[in-house]
Formats: sequence, structure tokens, C-alpha cells
Amino acid sequence: MRTPEKLPELFGSLVFNEDTMKERLSPASYRAWKTCITDGTSLDISTANEIAEAMKQWAVERGATHYTHWFQPMTGVTAEKHDSFISPAGGGRIIMEFSGKELVRGEPDASSFPSGGLRATFEARGYTAWDPTSFAFIKEGSLCIPTIFCSYSGHALDKKTPLLRSMDEVSRQAIRILRLFGDTTTRRVIAQVGPEQEYFLIDKTLYDQRKDLRMTGRTLFGAKPPRGQELEDHYFGAIKPRVAAYMKDLDETLWALGVLSKTKHNEVAPSQHEMAPIYTDANTACDHNQLAMEMMKKVADRHGLVCLLHEKPFAGVNGSGKHDNWSLGTDTGKNLFKPGSTPSQNAQFLLFLAAFIKGVDDYQDFLRTTVATPGNDHRLGAQEAPPAVLSIFLGDELNAVVESIINGTHFEDSAKRTLQIGVDVLPAIPQDNTDRNRTSPMAFTGNKFEFRMLGSSQSISGPNIALNTMMAEELKQFADELEKSKDFQTDLQKLIKRVFTEHQRIIFNGNGYDDAWLKEAEKRGLCNLVSTADALPMYTAKKNVDLFVKHGIYTKEEINARAEIHIENYTTVISIEAHTMADMIRHDILPAASAYASELCSRSAEKEALGVPSKYELTTAREIAKLTDGLQTACERLERDLAKLPADPKKAMAYSHATIVPDMAKARELADQLETLTASEYWPFPVYSDLLFSV
Ligand code: ADP
Ligand code: MG
Repeated sequence: MRTPEKLPELFGSLVFNEDTMKERLSPASYRAWKTCITDGTSLDISTANEIAEAMKQWAVERGATHYTHWFQPMTGVTAEKHDSFISPAGGGRIIMEFSGKELVRGEPDASSFPSGGLRATFEARGYTAWDPTSFAFIKEGSLCIPTIFCSYSGHALDKKTPLLRSMDEVSRQAIRILRLFGDTTTRRVIAQVGPEQEYFLIDKTLYDQRKDLRMTGRTLFGAKPPRGQELEDHYFGAIKPRVAAYMKDLDETLWALGVLSKTKHNEVAPSQHEMAPIYTDANTACDHNQLAMEMMKKVADRHGLVCLLHEKPFAGVNGSGKHDNWSLGTDTGKNLFKPGSTPSQNAQFLLFLAAFIKGVDDYQDFLRTTVATPGNDHRLGAQEAPPAVLSIFLGDELNAVVESIINGTHFEDSAKRTLQIGVDVLPAIPQDNTDRNRTSPMAFTGNKFEFRMLGSSQSISGPNIALNTMMAEELKQFADELEKSKDFQTDLQKLIKRVFTEHQRIIFNGNGYDDAWLKEAEKRGLCNLVSTADALPMYTAKKNVDLFVKHGIYTKEEINARAEIHIENYTTVISIEAHTMADMIRHDILPAASAYASELCSRSAEKEALGVPSKYELTTAREIAKLTDGLQTACERLERDLAKLPADPKKAMAYSHATIVPDMAKARELADQLETLTASEYWPFPVYSDLLFSV
């Protein structure tokens, strides 16, 4: 088996990466691929043919028989359509073939992927095109080629195309700023991302017995267990052998695929864990996070486990999120969010900081929509994840710097000076203030921002498109202003002071879980879009549409289509949950509780005949009968309301949120009470203590 010494060999062994290309391509083709990456040029067909041939040979040597374009439609998961390499060669023989044409372009039938109306006006077919910035890899015997996915008229139907567009745009605008600071060498600025991924692991045999987990990814019922996460003994606790074996297998699987899986530990809730990779460019990070989520599930299956990626698998214990660590770096290896050691570097850092602060303030509503999913509604604002209000945590030191600039007051360090941008150096900002404030939705952690509102199951593409684009817009505004300046130093100072002053309201360093913050946020005029139903209508607010259209990230049709897909998805998810709930109530819960109540009644009659007291049997049977009647009524109401779902997608979302969700909560409350009264042998499925403490 694989041993740790073999790790350098294992790592990326299933990836057609840069080294492999260098080794297997002619110098001319390798160079053509390189310029295609750095300058965005397209490949000519003879180069594509050579790369395809090399890829095929490499993949076949490793046992691959098929190839697939691997893309990220608007479902939020990845899609693939496998074709084998075989081609008839006469005489009943075959040869293995793969051409440049097949590498660079595919034509899957797009009609079953969500298109948000783009399909209605355009052709049903779509095409996929190779994204040469992301390496091909082998997965389960297929050569997977990362691709973008578009309609024939060129509308993006996926999550990769706009991400690539936003990465280009933020690079373009950031370079304008770098030039103002005298940087003549940087050719590209790269959005860098490291997503931390939380998940639950439970036993597969127990999972199989729960229809709700199988249909919806979360438990729709379940009374609070005697022990939840109160002891806080799980967080960073010793990893159990079965979980350790899973994590090792997962790491090795991911390493072979070139995913830089770095840290693993137990999380707050029982059975909850986390994996964090080393950061990389946003596009690769997004591909890798999709791969990681897929492999987490597949590897679990090999271990008799199920990996739950839902945001809230269990009520009453913490759910799972994803922390999107984001920064900008140059192709020369500099991090633009790292406070520097010279006055000029510091001024540049403060300008990028100002752009970020202004961006989050200007587009707080849009950022909120990028994490608006039905699953995430259970977490945001529920004391386990940040509130639904966007704000930025800077930490004491950096906050003091910002305040001193705004107020022109002395900065409280040993020198007691007024900080002059571009003249003074900044005081030391600690490199790692991670987790000093876990309640902030957007925390500065020394050299990056950590966006902590993401749900565990979602693609990280949307939030990063938003971060890149808002940053591009603010940097563009700054560059437009400063490029005209006659006195750069003075105008830079003025601009930074002005922006900090105008957008200070978005900075909050206190406890985000505190109710007082919500009141304060309201006073400051910050948006509090509590639920997905409140948030999603802001997706297409005029200023947001304008932002994305202006920077060429989405066309108006594309952004409207996306809003529609998200809105419809909300209703679909809630409906599936509601139907599953009604099904379980009628087929499992009511029959079980009723059978137990009958059993109690007959026992009570037997005892009475013998003159034996039967208080337990009688009172419990009565209590159960009351609850089953109540649950029957609640279920009828849920079914009746479900039948009245409006046809209009926006109305359906609002209705689902306002009517179906409360109906479900009511039914659940009664069912959970029944669970506590019903004998274990009668209860139709495993309960929370079984599920949470099974591994
Ligand atoms: P914590 O749980 O304390 O937030 P982790 O070490 O689990 O910290 O995760 C931090 C994540 O941030 C990792 O994925 C790491 O690669 C990523 N990261 C570190 N530096 C940067 C950076 N400059 N840009 C983007 N991501 C970064
Ligand atoms: Mg973190």
C-alpha cells in the first residue's frame, strides 16, 4: 500500500499537470499552452491535437478507457458525460483515439440542466470548452477535462465561466493600481482562495433507515438527545480510529488528484469534522472543492459511512459551513493584503483594504444573496454561524489604524504619532488573528479575508465571483481617480481617508451573535436579509445587475437567469422536504405511535382485570393519542398548503417561506414529542443519539 515516503510521488499522480506537460509535449506546444494561460490566447488545432494525444497516452497508461468534459452547471454540482476512447479500426479491431477537437470542445445535450430561461429563447444544446487553466485528471477510469459550459449563443450556463471572467477583471483593475505604485513587472493578479470544508460522518446502516436523510440530506425529525455538543469535548478532540481511517483514505484520494488537503480535525458537534486545503487560485480552488465534496461522499461509502454535506443535518447541534479565505496575489508572489514593511507598501495595502471595505459595504446585499440557500437559513443568525448582516472584522490593531486615519488622531503606539499614509510605516499587525472572532461574517486574518457565511454544500464559485467583481469595481473607481491625479501622495491620502470615513459603518469588531449588534446594524443602515426569501430578490437589484454587466461578468440575461434558478431551487427544496415529511408522518410515525398506544391500552386493560394499577400505560396512551391527533391535523394542513403553491416562482418562494416552513416546524414539534413518549422498539427509525454517536 501507499506509504508516507511515497507521498511526493502520490501527489498529483492522477493529474496531467504542468510537469507532465513539459515532459510529454514538444517545447513548442508546451509554450503555446503556457501563453494560452498567461495571455488568454487560444490554441491552434495542431497544438490541441498534440496535447490531446499526449493526454490520451498518459491516461491510457494509467488504465483510463474513457474521457469526459467535466463541468459545473447551475445545479451546484459537477456534471460529466463519458465517451470511450475507442474507435473502430477495421477487421473488428479498435484503436484508442482522442483528437484535439474532442479536447477543446464537446456538445452535451443541455436541455436537462437548469438554464433559468436562457434555454427557452436559445438552442437546447450547449457546448463545453476546455479550460486550459485547470489541469485534466483521471477519476474512476475516465480522463476528466475541466471545461466551461455555454449555450450556443454564448450564454454561460455554468459556474466556471463567470468565475474566470471575474478573475480576469479583478486582475486587470488591480494591475492599474499596482502601476500607480511603480510596479512595472506584475503581469497578472490572482484571486486566491482556500475553502475550509465542514462535514458530518454517520454510519451507513443507520442512514439507510432514515428516509429524510436519503431524500433531503437532513433529518426532518428528531428529539434533542440527552447529550449533544454541550461537553464541547469533540472540537479538536482525538480522532476515532474509524474516522482516522476515513480521513487518511480521503487525504490520499485527494492528493492523487492534486488537491492540497492540508488540515483535518474534529469540529464542534459530535460526528462533525473539517478539511482545509492549502489555498490556490480561485478557479482551481473551486474545481478542487467540488472534487473534495464528491470524494468525501465516495470515500465514506468505502468505509460503511455516509458523509453529510448539508448545512443543518441535525436540529439543536451546530450545522456545517464553509469558510472562503480570499486574497489577491501577484504572479510575482506578493500578497496584496499583507501589510508591508515600507511606507509605500503600506499605502498600497491600505488602498486595497479601502477598496475591499467599500466593496463589502456597497454590495453587502449581493454578498448576502451568494450564500442564500434553504440549508443555510438554518444557520445564519442562529448563534452557530454569523448573522445574516454583512460586516467586516479588522482586529484591534488594524481597526486602530483605520480610526486614526479617519479622525486624524494620534495612533497609540510607542511613537504616539499621527499616521501619515505613504510616509509612515504601519504598526505590527499580527499575522494570525484567526478565530479571535468566530462570529464575524468577514474577518481580516492577517493577510486575507475569511468569508464565513457560506453553507457547506454550496459551490464556492458564486461568493468568489462576487468578491472578485466588487473588488474590480472599487479598484476601477480608485484607478480612474488616481490616474488623473497631479499629486499622487496627497490625493491617495485623501482618497483613503474619505473611503474609510464613508464606509466605516461596515466595520464591526464586536460579538456578531449579540442581539444588540442587530439593533446597532439597523441604526447604521446595514441590510439584514434574514432568510433566503428576503435575500434572493436583491440578486437582481438594479445596482447589482449594473455591476456585473458593466464588468462583463454576466449579461443581463445571464444574471436574471441565475436569480430565477436560485429562486426556483428554494421552492423545490422546501417542497421535497415537505413531501418527505408528510410521507414519513403517514407511513412511519403515526402507525408506530398508534401501535404503541394500542399496546399500552391492551396492557392497561389486562392489568385492570387483575386489579393492578396502570397509571403509566393509561396516561402515556392518552398523551400519545392527543399528539397523534394533533400530528394528523398538522400533516393535513401541510398537505393542503402544499397543494396551494403559487405558480409564479417569486410568489412560490415567498409562500414556501411564510407558510410551508412554519407548517413543517409545527408538525416536527409534535412528532418529536411523540418520539420521546414512544418505546424505542416501536419508533420506526434511528434517533439522534444513535446517529450522532454511532461512529
Ligand atoms: P482556521 O480554521 O483557523 O480559519 P485553517 O488553517 O483551517 O484556519 O484554514 C485557513 C485557510 O486559509 C486554508 O485553506 C489556507 O490555505 C487559507 N489561506 C491562507 N492564506 C491565504 C491567502 N493568502 N489567501 C487565501 N487563502 C489563504
Ligand atoms: Mg476558518
